[in-house]
Amino acid sequence: MKDFNYIQPDSLSQAGKYLSNRNNDAVILSGGTDLLSLIKENIYTNENVVNLKTIPNLNNIKYKKGEGLTIGALTKISDVAESKIIKEKFTVLAEAAKEIASLQLRNMGTVGGNICQRPRCWYYREDFDCIKKGGGECFAYQGENKYHCIIGGGPCYIVHPSDLAVALTALDAKVKLFFDDSSRIIPIHEFFILPEDDYLFENILRDGEIVTEIIIPDLPDGAKSSYIKIKERETWDFAVVSAAAVISKKGSNIKSGKIAYGGVAPIPWTEEIINKSLKNLNADKNEIEKISKIILADAEPLEKNKYKVILAKNLVKRILTNLVLDA
Ligand SMILES: Cc1cc2nc3c(=O)[nH]c(=O)nc-3n(C[C@H](O)[C@H](O)[C@H](O)COP(=O)(O)OP(=O)(O)OC[C@H]3O[C@@H](n4cnc5c(N)ncnc54)[C@H](O)[C@@H]3O)c2cc1C
Ligand code: SF4
Repeated sequence: MKDFNYIQPDSLSQAGKYLSNRNNDAVILSGGTDLLSLIKENIYTNENVVNLKTIPNLNNIKYKKGEGLTIGALTKISDVAESKIIKEKFTVLAEAAKEIASLQLRNMGTVGGNICQRPRCWYYREDFDCIKKGGGECFAYQGENKYHCIIGGGPCYIVHPSDLAVALTALDAKVKLFFDDSSRIIPIHEFFILPEDDYLFENILRDGEIVTEIIIPDLPDGAKSSYIKIKERETWDFAVVSAAAVISKKGSNIKSGKIAYGGVAPIPWTEEIINKSLKNLNADKNEIEKISKIILADAEPLEKNKYKVILAKNLVKRILTNLVLDA
């Protein structure tokens, strides 16, 4: 592990200036639960590590009816899992947060760090000079690809590891970014990028841009949401496949709905065709069956992960049944 300087800025402006100066070769640290592993594994060899935890006002959860929810990037994952308003109104997010790792990791890991964490592909994490590290080959493509993506891949076949990102995508969240003393807000689906657009990164952050806040629009009264995660082990683990669904009902009909999947693609995955077919759907068992059959129709699984397509279809059936029929 390479030595690094530990920088403790006391304002966003100071952190931003330091990070945007390329000569500083600096990287952001929030909870450190992913970054420190990357440094120990020599995947990151930056000279300087900038600790965001010394910056005030980035750790908070605020809700205003009609306007929605804002979550500071330094908010602990455990605080999201336990927040009363998130559990009541944005259930999918609290459920996703509760599914992350162990309590110790949830107490250290932050919301900003969770959505910016790097992939878990074992070749990337080990000593393989693969495409994502600037090498010439994806070792997973013809290698051990049981946990890799079934859609949206190429030339890199990772799945995005963040549970929160999947729930936030179903909630149509926005991400607030800080750079060079100014901020911009972008929809979460524009934050994450596919390997075909840039295989070195998983999001649009560049040159020390900082995630400062997540903004979630308010949900209509009576909206329901849920997150289900399939793991290989009962104890903490990353998602093999997960689904986040947000549904608004009108009588026995679904008025509108959105489903996002985790564990299937390099980004949280959504399908316009599915979200459209949920609109004004008279949801009964047959309709739910029909929808679960057509999801991920364009999937192109790798040799060892065809099982994920079946899992995802069953997961969607389960989540819609829970939200619509058993509610
Ligand atoms: C054993 C284990 C099990 C895990 N299981 C799960 C799981 O089941 N589900 C899941 O979702 N995650 C899981 N994780 C990942 C864990 O949730 C992340 O490590 C954690 O959320 C990262 O948050 P952090 O604040 O510690 O980020 P850090 O480690 O500090 O940073 C992570 C990355 O994000 C960048 N970064 C951090 N904050 C910001 C910011 N505000 N703006 C821009 N860039 C930033 C850093 O530079 C770094 O590259 C697991 C991790 C471990 C070690
Ligand atoms: S899936 Fe991506 S990270 Fe994994 S070996 Fe292939 S190029 Fe590297």
